[in-house]
Amino acid sequence: MPIAGSEIVKMLPGKRPCKDCGFPTCFAFAMKLASGGATVDKCPYLSEDVKARLLDLLAPPIKLVTIGSGENAVKIGNEEVIYRHEKTFVHSPGIALLISDREDNARIEEKIRKIKELQFPWVGVNLKADLLALHFESGDKAKFLALVKKVYDSTDLGMVLISENMDALFAARDICADRNPLLYPITKENIDEDIPKIKANLTPVGLRGGSIEELVLLTTKLKDAGVEELVLGPGSKNLLEAIRDQTFIRRAALKQGFRPLGYPTIAFPCFMAKEGLKEIIAGSAFINKWASIVVLSDFDQYSLLPLLVQRLNIYTDPRFPMAVEQKYYEVGEPDESSPVLVTSNWALTYFLVSSAVEATKVPAYVCVKDSEGLGVLTAWAAGKFSGDSVGAFIKKCGIGDKVKHRKIVIPGKVARIRGELEDALNLEWEVIVGPRETTGIAAFLPAFAKQLKGPS
Ligand code: SF4
Repeated sequence: MPIAGSEIVKMLPGKRPCKDCGFPTCFAFAMKLASGGATVDKCPYLSEDVKARLLDLLAPPIKLVTIGSGENAVKIGNEEVIYRHEKTFVHSPGIALLISDREDNARIEEKIRKIKELQFPWVGVNLKADLLALHFESGDKAKFLALVKKVYDSTDLGMVLISENMDALFAARDICADRNPLLYPITKENIDEDIPKIKANLTPVGLRGGSIEELVLLTTKLKDAGVEELVLGPGSKNLLEAIRDQTFIRRAALKQGFRPLGYPTIAFPCFMAKEGLKEIIAGSAFINKWASIVVLSDFDQYSLLPLLVQRLNIYTDPRFPMAVEQKYYEVGEPDESSPVLVTSNWALTYFLVSSAVEATKVPAYVCVKDSEGLGVLTAWAAGKFSGDSVGAFIKKCGIGDKVKHRKIVIPGKVARIRGELEDALNLEWEVIVGPRETTGIAAFLPAFAKQLKGPS
């Protein structure tokens, strides 16, 4: 539960008004701290003890945990609300593909290829599964370690290492520790003996409890030992139990501020359902109901894509429209005489315009002006697609160096910015009013491109 500024101020030194934190009073600083707009280190007069207490009180109710490294790192946790409409969800669940060391080589290769190839670029986002979960089932430690090494060498993905044999688990961890794998499961049976081994080469730790109470004991022990990147596995036997446990953990962390359950969770539809479709449906339920990692035994494009789209929809911040980065985009392989179109940065607008351009097979540049995620007409009405601002963007985005002509096409719906835009571009560019709708691009663009090329 968030701490109030009025509580924080009681812990501050009260050297009014030293202002060294950049705020006029301790109270103003406390209010900013409570709302997340300032950091504790801005006040130089806090004792180490007070600083530590404040950091603990201000920490998000669900801890942030990172699995994997580099651009494939999967961040989970840091959530603040039960339901997305209360604010937003922060980190979408990682989807993991399970590989058992009992599977034959051809099947292992196929799964590695599958997770690499099944990627779906969509309006500036790359939809894909995130992790490989490697399961020690064969009883042959050397075989499991060979699987871990193979995955480590042939992919850059983060890994979940699953083994009841702790020797095998820690040996596997040591192969890929720089990839920050999640170790699973640490249980009440092995925790005391394994804490020193966990700390010897620290990576995130997945806990499996026979009950929620058992998970509380495990997280408390590990936190006291200084191990804080934890992921909770409630050990639920079926979907009903699992949803109940996920709900209990989430509510305890967010509504009661109960720190021992303030960690992301893992769910295993792969071990709950015998049949592929049921497993995917269970995976879908866990995406809805708060699992931070969902482990699937298999998928193909037809089962994975719906899960990825569902995840994208739920974990998109409802307070902001989806937007693409402001810059010029190349559609096809444009050259110095290719058409230049300008549009706003609402993801759907960009997607429609670039798809319509692509369909004409005319290579072109699409200049996307930051309009805070608004469509063209709304952006214009809100003053975010004025001739002046579009002109400033065109001047600095570098498109002038890419083409030798000086003609730029604006959407027909904002024809009225034409004069202002030409002025903003110092009359160096001719502004052409394009179609009102993207459906008009099919007829407009080929003829316009022909004009630009001139007589052949
Ligand atoms: Fe108060 Fe610290 Fe800010 Fe000074 S620097 S005003 S003591 S919070």
